[in-house]
Amino acid sequence: MNSNENLTIVFASLKAGKNHFNFQLNESFFKKYELLDSENGLININIVLTKNINMFELEFKINGNINLICDICASEYSQKIENYFTQIVKFSNKSIVSSDDDIIFIDANETSIDISHYLYELISVSIPAKRIHKNKKDCDQNVLNKLTSFETTKNNIDPRWSVLKKLNK
Ligand SMILES: [Zn+2]
Repeated sequence: MNSNENLTIVFASLKAGKNHFNFQLNESFFKKYELLDSENGLININIVLTKNINMFELEFKINGNINLICDICASEYSQKIENYFTQIVKFSNKSIVSSDDDIIFIDANETSIDISHYLYELISVSIPAKRIHKNKKDCDQNVLNKLTSFETTKNNIDPRWSVLKKLNK
């Protein structure tokens, strides 16, 4: 198991065919990539690198949990995530800009590839748009009760809310 301080695969010395790698992402990864909206999590990464003569394929599989803030009750919860992604990498002596996102080109003299960017992207797209406790009963009940009483008070006091409510219908 590699630590997530060094998310690099050295491919130059690998045998042709399938090569397996495991990484584990923990708190330090999430702290570093704060754009993920999560400060902690534990994600297992399984990578199969299939090496050919002028190219290789990277298959990423992620599964684990990340801590997110619930949209409803604003308390932290653990979100299970699972996803899969394939990247084809071709060697080239010329700098080619690929029009196909599935294929990237790297210099034929390169010996390793930094995979942190791919993992970041894969985790980003795996985070659900709706971040809520799976079961509503797991939400912070104190917050829910406060929200309910706040809504009620607001509706009673301010008549503009009822006008808005009508507009929304
Ligand atoms: Zn909640």
